[in-house]
Amino acid sequence: MKVAVIGGGAAGLMAAYAAASGGATVTLFERNEKCGKKIYITGKGRCNVTNDCEPSEYLRHVVRGGKFLTSSVYSFSPRDLMDMLERGGLKLKTERGNRVFPVSDKASDVTKCLENYCKNAGVHFKFNERILKLDILNSTMRGIITENDEFYFDKVIICTGGLSYPSTGSTGDGYRFAEQAGHGIVSPVPSLCGVNLCGNYYKPMQGLALKNVAIKIFRCGKKTDELFGEMQFTHFGASGPIILTASALICREPADDIKLELDFKPALSFEQLEARLLRDFKENQNRDISNCLKALLPLSAIEPLLSRCNIQQTKKVNSVTKSERSALLTNLKNFDMLFSSLRGFEEAVVTSGGVSLKEINPKTMESKLVKGLYFCGEVLDCDAFTGGFNLQIAFSTGYAAGCAAAKTD
Ligand SMILES: Cc1cc2nc3c(=O)[nH]c(=O)nc-3n(C[C@H](O)[C@H](O)[C@H](O)COP(=O)(O)OP(=O)(O)OC[C@H]3O[C@@H](n4cnc5c(N)ncnc54)[C@H](O)[C@@H]3O)c2cc1C
Repeated sequence: MKVAVIGGGAAGLMAAYAAASGGATVTLFERNEKCGKKIYITGKGRCNVTNDCEPSEYLRHVVRGGKFLTSSVYSFSPRDLMDMLERGGLKLKTERGNRVFPVSDKASDVTKCLENYCKNAGVHFKFNERILKLDILNSTMRGIITENDEFYFDKVIICTGGLSYPSTGSTGDGYRFAEQAGHGIVSPVPSLCGVNLCGNYYKPMQGLALKNVAIKIFRCGKKTDELFGEMQFTHFGASGPIILTASALICREPADDIKLELDFKPALSFEQLEARLLRDFKENQNRDISNCLKALLPLSAIEPLLSRCNIQQTKKVNSVTKSERSALLTNLKNFDMLFSSLRGFEEAVVTSGGVSLKEINPKTMESKLVKGLYFCGEVLDCDAFTGGFNLQIAFSTGYAAGCAAAKTD
């Protein structure tokens, strides 16, 4: 069985290894001069390779495609991946939130380990070779066409990734191959990224990191989610953990339908916050309101908050009216972030959307339209939250595709 794997990222390396150890003759084609350019930048260069949890828990962190992934994640679970990497000599450690990293804190060690598995299983690597087209005859795979050559293969596994961080080689080629084979594509959009905010109210807060705050997500005026944790304001708007999570939840919705509100004090109810404000006001009656708020808010957030409430920074606390106090309360709890749009693919950790799951067999990753054609990894319409869940999508689907492609029909 001759198998071609297109793309040498996490999914491609796993698929190539699984196919070769299943007895296939495997060639992995990578357009770059080496494998794993994206792996190299994962987890800030440390590679959060998976999440140490049971498949049932894992699937709760998948945003789209959870049902489709069930079979492949149970067949090749986070535990299976961790065992495989450790057998291959890569020592692992588990950090906060069950996030798994190499002990060396070097993402390149993950690639090395996977490459060693491939080499030992006899995978042949072809670098600097970009696949341009598939060769399909009578709904059956015949081979692939590169910039310089044509190759005949019984099976072809597409692992070309999505559109995020295109400088790593992931430029959406897999979508074109899928379309050539007649597959539907769910429009790819950036996910796990920062958000652009309107106006410039947030500029004074640029660089401000907030802990223990909440983001409330409204869709068409209805509150649908509330996320607690950390975020920061940036030169374009906002980013940080809860903003990334929010982006994954809203990325497929029209921007006009979305409203994001920041709760500066989620631990306090409206009533508790009002009592706190009244106490602070009583103790600081003759001071400027901006000074009085210092106990409650970081310095750089005071000016934007007061300006949103139309209160002068120098206004004395004893002259703040009841309605101004009420505006302050409202904005402390429900500060409209003036959401504009998501950041682009250049900065998105993953792509949401891709090859429609309807026409892919979830057990084998084989196309239901073209015999011998497989898709795995980020090219598929599956995505998850941060925490090692996205790489595990690549590993589980890559493993399923490789094992299936090695089988003779
Ligand atoms: C900054 C950043 C940090 C991240 N951190 C984490 C993390 O810590 N944990 C986690 O779980 N996930 C993380 N992710 C997400 C994760 O890296 C991806 O979901 C995963 O790597 C996707 O793997 P893949 O193999 O499907 O695709 P890719 O890694 O994108 O690999 C696709 C490969 O195919 C090659 N290719 C493309 N087209 C062709 C062609 N026509 N011919 C030949 N080769 C081609 C590309 O050069 C590339 O090497 C991060 C992503 C980014 C951008």
